[in-house]
Amino acid sequence: MVEFCPDCSNLLRKRIDSDKSFLMCNCGYQREVLTDNKKIEINVQKKKQALENNLVIITEEDKISVYPKAKKYCPKCNNKEAETWQKQMRSADEPSTHFFRCTKCKYTWREY
Ligand SMILES: [Zn+2]
Ligand SMILES: [Zn+2]
Repeated sequence: MVEFCPDCSNLLRKRIDSDKSFLMCNCGYQREVLTDNKKIEINVQKKKQALENNLVIITEEDKISVYPKAKKYCPKCNNKEAETWQKQMRSADEPSTHFFRCTKCKYTWREY
């Protein structure tokens, strides 16, 4: 949905700040957007999950197995090798989280 600034009629930009989202304008106008985004986000996730459950072609397991390996001590079995990948959490302003999965015992953990 596109919205325009009531002050100067410019296009409003969307900014997501932790749990809240705002619509902002270059002139300084800004207002908070309530809930809708979150609902949409959850719906999209549900749809994705339903899709994956039905298709069962790409499982999380398959996706993870293509990640590069890193020298990392497994906190569970002391294996020295783990697969690693990054995931952006919530908004782009936050640092991404590093995930590791032990190549031996498949234990998965994350670091910030
Ligand atoms: Zn404006
Ligand atoms: Zn391990």
